[in-house]
Amino acid sequence: MRRVVCPGSFDPVTNGHLDIIGRTSRLYDEVVVAVLINIEKRSLFTVDERIEMLQAVTKEYGNIRVEKFHGLLVDFCRQQGIPAIVKGLRAVSDFDYELQMAQLNYRMSGVETLFMSTNPEYSFLSSSRLKEIARYGGDVSGLVPDLVHQLLIERLRG
Ligand code: ADP
Repeated sequence: MRRVVCPGSFDPVTNGHLDIIGRTSRLYDEVVVAVLINIEKRSLFTVDERIEMLQAVTKEYGNIRVEKFHGLLVDFCRQQGIPAIVKGLRAVSDFDYELQMAQLNYRMSGVETLFMSTNPEYSFLSSSRLKEIARYGGDVSGLVPDLVHQLLIERLRG
């Protein structure tokens, strides 16, 4: 069984994330989408809400499992028997940080990191920018799945 992990905060999942998850799902038997539990970072959606959204929008791929984790990603990989991490790269600005993380993770555990270049259609897209635009009433349809769009608008309306 060839298994890989796509980690992130996914607060909420965007079409940019989905593009990477979908393309990865065609290369591996199983993709574990790992949602980071970070109690220090304020989030718009709870971890369980994020997991539910991810499950709903990745269902059609057929080989995605959504889990949560806290602590070190490499420990999660070890527990789950996952030898590799896939990360999306949007721009050179992502690269510096991601390269260091990849090298550190390999040094700590031997877990490999593979980088997938983003679809240019989404290279400007991050969850934080998405929330900022939506908060000020900007149109974010087309950047997130319909379900997420609906939940985002409801949540921001409060
Ligand atoms: P963000 O809050 O920046 O959207 P996450 O922590 O949820 O990011 O990101 C999880 C992973 O998804 C990271 O590897 C990140 O580089 C990748 N990613 C996020 N947005 C995109 C995008 N638009 N295109 C490709 N990869 C992306």
